[in-house]
Amino acid sequence: MAVELLELTFDQLQNWLVEDLHQKPFRAKQLFKWLHFKRISSFDAMTNLSLKFRNQLKSTAGITVPEQVNKVESPDGTVKYLLQLPSGPAESVLIPDPPRFTACLSTQYGCRMGCKFCMTGLAGFHGNMTAGEIVAQLYAMSETSASRISNVVLMGMGEPMDNWDAVANALEIISDSRGICIGQRKITVSTVGIPGGIRKLVDMEKQYGLAVSLHSAVQRTREMLVPAAKAINLAELKRDMLEYTGTTGRRVTLEYCLIQGINDSLEEAEALVQYSKELPCKINLLVYNSVPGLEWERPSEESIKRFTEYLYPRCSAVTLRRSRGDEVAGACGQLGASVLKKGDPAFTVPP
Ligand code: SF4
Repeated sequence: MAVELLELTFDQLQNWLVEDLHQKPFRAKQLFKWLHFKRISSFDAMTNLSLKFRNQLKSTAGITVPEQVNKVESPDGTVKYLLQLPSGPAESVLIPDPPRFTACLSTQYGCRMGCKFCMTGLAGFHGNMTAGEIVAQLYAMSETSASRISNVVLMGMGEPMDNWDAVANALEIISDSRGICIGQRKITVSTVGIPGGIRKLVDMEKQYGLAVSLHSAVQRTREMLVPAAKAINLAELKRDMLEYTGTTGRRVTLEYCLIQGINDSLEEAEALVQYSKELPCKINLLVYNSVPGLEWERPSEESIKRFTEYLYPRCSAVTLRRSRGDEVAGACGQLGASVLKKGDPAFTVPP
């Protein structure tokens, strides 16, 4: 089977070239630059490689090139991409907020976390993405975007910690200074917080950002919204987050999606105040967008105001973010709505 080059970190690429193709180590630098800096996917265009080496690559390796199936831009400038990757369709979103341009990448086909307010969760799990498929989304967006992508967040379809090996490789490739070189501090991993997940990020000893989809600081409410929370209680989750903040010196972002009558009461607000007290964090409030087929509703403006005004004087950093890209269904928890359907025969899950 052909080796998929976009999947390999620099060290893996070098090892493969030296051990399997009996090439000199410097070839890795040349090839990595073509793949991840110039983002060239044709071996013929890699003109500083000898013809013999290019032919050797052609017969042993491939380069993932996603097909752009659809691209929809909302009035606020958010762009949703529907890409066809080797193992299935994926949605990715580009969020402009000059000078920042953030690429929101998917890490799995669907998701097995089953969050009750999420269209991706509703569609079930169809398989993991490879590191190459994660990286390829970024390159596809970068190619068609007039602006340079400055930030990356792994927050699209899937739970990144549930596909850790591929995600870890993708993080390394994206932040490699020999490639597209997105700084570690400009890359954020968003998780619901599965057991042992945050520890893997801590163990990397890097500066990647961490966002935790909290959605409630009351265990019962959280378990109802995020079934995966049954495997890790709020105290354990906080301990993991403190380990992250202590090791990296960075704050963690707590994502909190306000849903009418579920987690928007003053009791929930007070629980959030208490929970976040000794945690270096910023709280990012989002407003739920009603989704056809789901029972949850967007909170009233009065309820949003009451909740935020309770938090503002009591928490050090709170932002209220109106979801970007509502019009293109590119807001959190709405990805996958158009491409993933339970039991979709169009899906080819990797073996
Ligand atoms: S919100 Fe995130 S973790 Fe939860 S089901 Fe959706 S994609 Fe998965």
